Amino acid sequence: APADNHQHRIVAVPGDGVGPEVYASACTVLDVLSSRFGFGIDIDEQLIGGAAIDATGNPLPDETVAACRDAKAVLLGAVGGPKWDAQPRELRPERGLLRIRSELGLYCNLRPIVTHPTLHRFSPVRPERLDGVNVMIVRELTGGIYFGEKRREGDVAEDVCRYTADEITRVTRQAGRLAMQRDRRIVQVDKSNVIETSRLWREVTERVIGEEFPEVSLEHLYVDAAAMHLLSKPASFDVMLTENLFGDILSDEASMLCGSMGLLPSASLADGDFGLYEPVHGSAPDIAGQGIANPYAMLLSIAMMLRLSLHETEAADALDSAITDCWSDGVLTLDLVPEGVGTEAVTEAVCRRLTGAA
Ligand code: ATP
Ligand code: MG
Repeated sequence: APADNHQHRIVAVPGDGVGPEVYASACTVLDVLSSRFGFGIDIDEQLIGGAAIDATGNPLPDETVAACRDAKAVLLGAVGGPKWDAQPRELRPERGLLRIRSELGLYCNLRPIVTHPTLHRFSPVRPERLDGVNVMIVRELTGGIYFGEKRREGDVAEDVCRYTADEITRVTRQAGRLAMQRDRRIVQVDKSNVIETSRLWREVTERVIGEEFPEVSLEHLYVDAAAMHLLSKPASFDVMLTENLFGDILSDEASMLCGSMGLLPSASLADGDFGLYEPVHGSAPDIAGQGIANPYAMLLSIAMMLRLSLHETEAADALDSAITDCWSDGVLTLDLVPEGVGTEAVTEAVCRRLTGAA
């Protein structure tokens, strides 16, 4: 491949609260990875959320959107905080996040749930059920009941759940592509015994996986059963594909398998390889500025970015293993254990394992 394939332009939006703190950790780790694996990263820092409101009066400046459109990926810290709670709705930091998702067409939300023996004790689920859990939840993010027509007439209210075959097809393709890099098994979750859009989901996923991903096995599960199986036999899942509302609920349920919000990365993909990567947790204003934020969720988010948008697979693998090595060695933060270490100590521990100095 030509050398300039290994120069990647990304946009970074550190954001509010602990966002800039975990973002600083990400920069340090990206530096180490780029020298070890011989690729370059140009980071274009932009504003969103509260930081953007303070600087420009707008939670999503046009300049930020334009910069994102020119980049291979966007890395985001966290958005929001009590400082901006009194703002009118259109001027809240969270509006910036919602708008950037729709502006960039990020319809495919990914939340990997991977457990580790050192972390089993932080989960309410029995440890023997957590061994070997590695689920990728693929949630449709821009359709369904969240975006359908809403009506209110006195004591009667209505929300329309609408999906088109095209919307289901594109997210199913992303799930198929991911399944090919994993265990090649997809469980599609719905409620097709009572809901019409769910019947369309079954039809379209069968067609797309059957025609385009013949090596991938596809099963269907009702959402009520899926909610139980996530707790009773979480290790049975590989890729779980579902619509917007069910995905919202199931991904929060699944996060409890891991132990802490500070450990969960996410990606939101558009067509092609473009994606926005961010930790699942929020801006954590209660601990911001103290240097104690858990950076693992952010570091796992960069591993996803390296793998899915930048195709730096070796670097992604190395980072994932450096992180699990740190867990094995008990490098944990204060949100997990009272004797936990701070953001910088975790960052240094990860870097030492990446440079072979540990
Ligand atoms: P948002 O509305 O932005 O999603 P939230 O109300 O869901 O925010 P978070 O900001 O995610 O809340 O924080 C929830 C709790 O988890 C807080 O007590 C916070 O301190 C803790 N927390 C979140 N992220 C981290 C982290 N990276 N490290 C340590 N603790 C964290
Ligand atoms: Mg939250």
